[in-house]
Amino acid sequence: MTNVLIGVDLGGTSTKLAFIDENGHFLNKWEIETDKRDSGKYILLNIVNSISEKVKELKIEREQLIGIGIGVPGPVNFETGLVYQCVNLGWGETQVKEILEKETGIPVVVDNDANVAAIGEMWKGAGKGTKNMICVTLGTGIGGGVIMDGNIVHGVKGAGGEIGHIVSVMNDGFTCNCGKKGCLETVASASGISRLAIEAVRKTKRDSKLKEWYEKRNQLTAKDVFDALHEGDQLAEEIVENVTKYLGVALANIGSLLNPEKIVIGGGVSAAGNALLAPLNHYFNQYTFSTVRISTMLVLATLGNDAGVIGGAYLAKTYGDHIRKIKHNSYIKELT
Ligand SMILES: [Zn+2]
Repeated sequence: MTNVLIGVDLGGTSTKLAFIDENGHFLNKWEIETDKRDSGKYILLNIVNSISEKVKELKIEREQLIGIGIGVPGPVNFETGLVYQCVNLGWGETQVKEILEKETGIPVVVDNDANVAAIGEMWKGAGKGTKNMICVTLGTGIGGGVIMDGNIVHGVKGAGGEIGHIVSVMNDGFTCNCGKKGCLETVASASGISRLAIEAVRKTKRDSKLKEWYEKRNQLTAKDVFDALHEGDQLAEEIVENVTKYLGVALANIGSLLNPEKIVIGGGVSAAGNALLAPLNHYFNQYTFSTVRISTMLVLATLGNDAGVIGGAYLAKTYGDHIRKIKHNSYIKELT
């Protein structure tokens, strides 16, 4: 009988779920809508119901279920599984671990979604084989996960690794979702790049693909910027230089602080591939400490949207091992 790990990636619009074996192979993968009505009070119940339906459908025995690892979009107390707040789910303090364990009867591990994605990349993705890595997720916002000696760095209140809120623009920065001004997220996330592009086309008098597209659609995405760059558009090139300079400086400073083996770049924006990585490497190398330059590597994430559920499964697995060990030890204690 295969042991089953359950990975859950709870997002603002949809929740990804997966049954994964202890070698990290998918047994089943599916997605449900995140129902945010009434301050998000149905979210956890929907997850529980969806899991139990799937367990029935696949005829999985209860003993096969090792545990649930879940990533949530907010700061978490990793020890207790208390989620302090998730603004985009409508949650205040929520006892995610307690509620899920009560409803399912199996062990639950909760962590911040960016941390869980980082663990996923460490187990099965671009960080495979290393215990010292940082994962930066360039999506609508910017998430960060720091893993040192195989452990996630949480900080005193679960806000460790919030790379998106490192300050990049000191003066007249744009207001971030967190309330501060000039955060990295406002200039290097998908929405940040889109905003910089719109600003640039409004200011410029030069001809540009981006300007053409903006006049037609009244919108520009981060993908538009990289598409225009691909077509040799000079304005797009300047925007990408700008974005990668902000990001490169932030990563260079993080590199100087932690000297990880790898910095893994993921999220929607990382689909730009080498068009992003090449200028990013340039600025990283220019600004980081000399030893870091030769020992820390910037690489693209490889798991895409699966990083969260794979990381969740890994947490369930290691936590399950931990529980088994405690049980085993207390058993030994009883004997002696
Ligand atoms: Zn911020």
